[in-house]
Amino acid sequence: MFKILQKTFKVGVATADYPGIAPQLAEQFRGCPEFDFDAWSDARPAAEACPTGAIAFRDRDGVRLVTVDYGRCIFCGECEAASAASAVQASAVQASATQINPVRMSQNFELAAADRRDLVLTAEYTLHPDGRHAELKSATSGPSAEEPGKRIEAAIHNLLGRSLSIRQVDAGSCNGCEQEIVALNNPVHDIERFGIHFVASPRHADMLLVTGPVTRNMELALRKTWAATPDPKVVVAVGACGISGGIFGTNYASLGGVDAVIPVDVYVPGCPPRPEALLYGILLALGQVRQRPGSLSRR
Ligand code: SF4
Ligand code: SF4
Repeated sequence: MFKILQKTFKVGVATADYPGIAPQLAEQFRGCPEFDFDAWSDARPAAEACPTGAIAFRDRDGVRLVTVDYGRCIFCGECEAASAASAVQASAVQASATQINPVRMSQNFELAAADRRDLVLTAEYTLHPDGRHAELKSATSGPSAEEPGKRIEAAIHNLLGRSLSIRQVDAGSCNGCEQEIVALNNPVHDIERFGIHFVASPRHADMLLVTGPVTRNMELALRKTWAATPDPKVVVAVGACGISGGIFGTNYASLGGVDAVIPVDVYVPGCPPRPEALLYGILLALGQVRQRPGSLSRR
């Protein structure tokens, strides 16, 4: 016991001050990919390499519409590698020394959004005959949602000023997201400092934190859990799977994202989202942080 006390005093306060102070990220930590749409000469290699279809394009009448959906992205980095390889090839063909990769993995994880459309970037290009981009016509970062959706405003009003109880629901996850949710309770992240705690019953909950693609076997359980949670309630969809079905998509066993089954108020991208990303999403749902301007925008 004395040794434990001695160690506690030696370590001091271990709890990080996020969101007050930005966390120290490991060099290897990978956040979302960022796109320099102006410099992107061809979206096809990245789209073909993307395992979840987060990058997609459609060509019509000499114009290409490219979409990037952070709600499907698993932060794997395949788009960066494919784009780098294509940039090297293009510079070799054009005998140019320029090898700038327009797709780069960042360390940005503050991606939570109250509007699913905010997670989708778009860019429109005219095309060369060989299919490469000729000119960027337009690029958007999706409608901005400075406030959480109107639908949850009443809920927020009632929830603020007292503690928040969360019921976590695993609707079919691989348990990666759960590992990060568990970390919210450790001394480093200590979510209880915000008066937020996890409860065992949806009847005691204000918020449902739902992970995983919704498997067909869990659909009824999820509907019942949502119905058993008293109003006003807030639903947060966690991870690429919770938002869109992620790497599993929609298939014979999976219904896709949580909003295919119950209404969702906030989406937290990642695979899995790190604890700070979850905290950011939860605080965004409560109106205690604002969606950072430009956090989802192109470079
Ligand atoms: S990082 Fe995201 S967008 Fe890029 S290839 Fe992986 S899943 Fe697709
Ligand atoms: S988002 Fe990633 S970590 Fe979370 S359940 Fe899906 S595959 Fe697992």
